[in-house]
Amino acid sequence: MKKTPMNYGIYIIAIIVLFGSFFFIQNLFKPSAPEPLTPTEFIEKLDAGEFAGMTIKYTPIGGEDNNVYRVTISDAEGPQYVFEIFMPTLNDILLTIEPTDNITLDYVEKSTVTIWAVLGNIVIPVILVIGLIIFLYRTMSGGGNNKAFEFSKSRARLSNSKAVTFKDVAGCDEEKTELVEVIDFLKFPRKYKEMGARIPKGILLVGSPGTGKTLLAKAVAGEASVPFFSISGSDFVEMFVGVGASRVRDLFKVAKENAPCIIFIDEIDAVGRQRGAGMGGGHDEREQTLNQLLVEMDGFNPNAGIIIMAATNRPDVLDPALLRPGRFDRQITINLPDVIGREAILKVHARNKKVSPEVKFEDISHRIPGFSGADIENLLNEAALLAARANRKMIELSDIDEAVDRVLMGPAKKSRKVTERERQVISYHEAGHAVIGIKLENASIVQKVTIIARGRAGGYNLMLPREEGYLRTKKALLEEITGNLGGRVAEELVFGDVTTGAYQDFQTATKIARAMVTEYGMSNLGPIQYESQQGSVFLGRDYLKERNFSDQVALEIDKEVREIITSCYEQAKQIIIENRALLDTITHYLLEVETLNKQDIDEIVASGKLGWWEERKLKKDEPVNSDNPLDKTDENPLVKADETR
Ligand code: ADP
Ligand code: MG
Ligand code: ZN
Repeated sequence: MKKTPMNYGIYIIAIIVLFGSFFFIQNLFKPSAPEPLTPTEFIEKLDAGEFAGMTIKYTPIGGEDNNVYRVTISDAEGPQYVFEIFMPTLNDILLTIEPTDNITLDYVEKSTVTIWAVLGNIVIPVILVIGLIIFLYRTMSGGGNNKAFEFSKSRARLSNSKAVTFKDVAGCDEEKTELVEVIDFLKFPRKYKEMGARIPKGILLVGSPGTGKTLLAKAVAGEASVPFFSISGSDFVEMFVGVGASRVRDLFKVAKENAPCIIFIDEIDAVGRQRGAGMGGGHDEREQTLNQLLVEMDGFNPNAGIIIMAATNRPDVLDPALLRPGRFDRQITINLPDVIGREAILKVHARNKKVSPEVKFEDISHRIPGFSGADIENLLNEAALLAARANRKMIELSDIDEAVDRVLMGPAKKSRKVTERERQVISYHEAGHAVIGIKLENASIVQKVTIIARGRAGGYNLMLPREEGYLRTKKALLEEITGNLGGRVAEELVFGDVTTGAYQDFQTATKIARAMVTEYGMSNLGPIQYESQQGSVFLGRDYLKERNFSDQVALEIDKEVREIITSCYEQAKQIIIENRALLDTITHYLLEVETLNKQDIDEIVASGKLGWWEERKLKKDEPVNSDNPLDKTDENPLVKADETR
């Protein structure tokens, strides 16, 4: 249950009802309210003979030497007077009673009323209130598997739906390859045990919402045919301290009984947030839960046959302790699908739908940049709804067209979708980086260029140094700065305007330039170290930079840094102007294919064309069959792409 105002409401209602029923029941058991009497009134009434035919019952109820008595005077209708009195006084009064007064005296050693009082005043209301709370819990949380007092149960759900396999996950080929080893381990644990190999315990799937993290985790379980326990990070976070921790314990207990199996913790950032960073002290419920999770992860034998998979779209907020070796030491990033991936996903979700043969998924995939797997599923579902509403036999192109608009405009659209203009700017920007990487022999080699959004950046450029090494030359550092500025330069030259897309690039470039001046002695200021990095794991490095120079020098440092950046910028400009044709070609293919790897780029540089893509465009898209298109490798566009690459 989540901490919602609704829940607090339950407690408030429960407390009100508790008090209410307490008083109500107390009154229920006292039919007529007996009057209190003072000793004088007692004597007066006794003398007046008012008590004739009544019973006077007296019981010691405490006080010094047990000398306070409760007196109850009752007639046939029940108690009429109840009061307390000192024993000597009572004794004196009682001695005046004659047998002719027709009064029964009854000394009761222990009040027989108490059992009934306890029952009536405490036990019954408590039972009623507990019953009420259970009733409220049941009705509000709806459904039998969310029972009220099962605080310590893990709530992990054993997935019993039709097994999902890799065939249902389209496009994530690299991610699947990484998971094949895990599946093999779950299937044949002995093989690894005998080899003494340690299989990773935890795998963290990172990716924006709807990219198929949950789906992929399920597919791993399906492929290995092992139980799949899934729980959401927010299920651990409860109102009561310690509940989360005990749920974690229970989860692992259940998992151990069912090994080999997969535990899947969705949205792990709900529990795995960095500890000690929040307000209001360090020891809260979430922290305890996280600690318990760490303890359990360390506690079981790596070869116990339990693989923990977790998903998040905020890896940056996770506690570093979670990412240490032996815990979630494997990270698999799942990106939004590129044009080929989108086509494959379209085909997977079209399998169980009737789609007109005229619908070309290849064309559609070009029109939905930035769509995630979940968006695409939604798109086809919308199209099917539209077709059904119009009483058509099959989903026609017009249905899909309208569905695209709906999904794009629809209120359900949370994530921002890129416009065509933005795609062009991003493509030119990334191509700018790539051209400089290609043209500067000392700069890093471009391994992959993509305009698929990754985190906050619009596009992404993976560059690796030509040779791995510790020492970097001044030339290499300068060329790296130039490479980082390539994106902005391309924007400026092509569009005559610039965007905020170069934020990260400038940060990197400035950092390198500054380090060259202040740390590596690579400027006109000479080989002096003005700043040194006292790297601390706990504080951001910048906070701890030692500053040993005057303001005068600070000015000069800034000047040198600016000079480096400016000259690199000029160099980048020159390279891009000289290679404008290459920039345009790369941009053209980036807009179409969206992701280019090293071979693609090499081919474009060598021949000005991307062979496999042009070939593919010539071929007509084959109509979708109702059977699984991924079963036959020759229909799988991804496999085809890989062969020709
Ligand atoms: P996440 O957990 O990353 O937010 P999900 O795994 O819940 O995303 O994906 C939501 C839905 O989107 C899935 O049920 C599936 O139908 C569809 N989907 C996402 N990615 C893919 C993919 N690569 N192939 C096929 N379907 C996908
Ligand atoms: Mg999910
Ligand atoms: Zn950039």
